[in-house]
Amino acid sequence: MKYISTRASSTEPTEPRVLRGFSDILLEGLAPDGGLYLPVAYPKVSAETLNAWRSLSYAELAFEILSLYIDDIPPADLRALVEKTYTAEVFGGHAAITPLTPLAPNLMLEGLSNGPTLAFKDMAMQLLGNLFEYELGRRGETLNILGATSGDTGSAAEYAMRGKHNVRVFMLSPLGRMSAFQQAQMFSLQDENIHNLSVEGVFDDCQDIVKAVSNDLDFKRKYRIGTVNSINWARLLAQVVYYFAGYIQATQTNNNQQVSFAVPSGNFGNVCAGHVARMMGLPIKHLVVATNENNVLEEFFRTGSYRVRSSAETFETSSPSMDISKASNFERFVFDLLGRDGDRTQALFGRALAQEGAFTLTADEFAKIADYGFQSGRSTHADRLATIRTTFEQFGVLIDTHTADGLKVAQELREADVPMLVLETALPAKFEATIAEALGPDVKAPRPAALADLESRPKRFQVMPADTATVQRYIVDHAPV
Ligand SMILES: *Cc1c(COP(=O)(O)O)cnc(C)c1O
Repeated sequence: MKYISTRASSTEPTEPRVLRGFSDILLEGLAPDGGLYLPVAYPKVSAETLNAWRSLSYAELAFEILSLYIDDIPPADLRALVEKTYTAEVFGGHAAITPLTPLAPNLMLEGLSNGPTLAFKDMAMQLLGNLFEYELGRRGETLNILGATSGDTGSAAEYAMRGKHNVRVFMLSPLGRMSAFQQAQMFSLQDENIHNLSVEGVFDDCQDIVKAVSNDLDFKRKYRIGTVNSINWARLLAQVVYYFAGYIQATQTNNNQQVSFAVPSGNFGNVCAGHVARMMGLPIKHLVVATNENNVLEEFFRTGSYRVRSSAETFETSSPSMDISKASNFERFVFDLLGRDGDRTQALFGRALAQEGAFTLTADEFAKIADYGFQSGRSTHADRLATIRTTFEQFGVLIDTHTADGLKVAQELREADVPMLVLETALPAKFEATIAEALGPDVKAPRPAALADLESRPKRFQVMPADTATVQRYIVDHAPV
């Protein structure tokens, strides 16, 4: 399987220089032209194959799906990597890895948050850690991952990369601005290859420093700086697997039966994997994009206009992992929607967004969205509280704030005869304050036993000013060439 950029000009899509292999793009971010990588075509999975996959374990299923997209890692090696990644031991003791929790007839949660950081980013990041270690070892290279986090992404990256050979992580976070749980989760890691840099500033300062370091091309090359952000194709590919796993668990043997998925969304990474699964032939009726107050995506699916928000218009909400000003994976879907016209994608994402911060599809382009199964809706803080409360009272199930956004919109849009799987993207234990606001002080979100003493563990972190040169000096001192 070869990969192309969403901005590859349609006059040159088959030129060898624009076609890349999986291992080539694994360690990269954006394509050189600023686009995102996608496979040249989506492999199709027949109803027969899908039926045959019903007896597979999660890891075996992951191997089958990944094999369709990866032909430059020997199959035995790839199998070993997924077998090592998707174990019940790593995913909260659940043999199914992404178990379903029924709520009402044809309404269920698919649990994606049983990994080490209790959020869905572990599903992909755990595989990425193993793939990075494998590929770097094969090449005899090392990589210094530099990132900024306000919570989930940074901890998922650290837990995926801890103790891995040839990889170091330098993770910037705003001093004193993460929850006690999130901070303890990251800072309690004692692995030598993990560096927590606690920056005297806000999240935007951290992000600006990461950008400045990445734009310093000499430094970037010399110190082999890389990233693990959500536009990485391997992360997206890993997420395709749980759409199949959810489908298989929710249906019997009739593969023509359709299901729908509701997806708490921010950067469009999670639901984009659903789009890929649907393009492969998985019988998905609707992909429900649920946003919080930061409704860039909901607005797009309602109006055909995509408008990046300023930081003043980006709200801090009680589902913080969905607080985005733009959706960094969205370009992948639009490329498909536009019939894979890289020139038009370039005009929208390369030019219009850069110049005006917004674009609007033509009526013809907008009309095609119906073919892709997308629906959308929006949820607010009051909706989250109400959904957490009613879900606990009616079904006896405690959900987190992000999952509540998904469930709220799912309940508005679901059809009685189509199973609706709501993706559970975090465990409520991570958001104790909002759970208390919804349910009162007496209901405590259960925490996995292994994390009972998390906040009292010794912490390992380095405080520093919001200054690019200081961060660079720290990297130089801790990542010798
Ligand atoms: C990252 C995240 C999301 C949003 O996922 P995207 O792929 O960015 O759309 C939703 N919920 C939780 C808990 C997350 O960590």
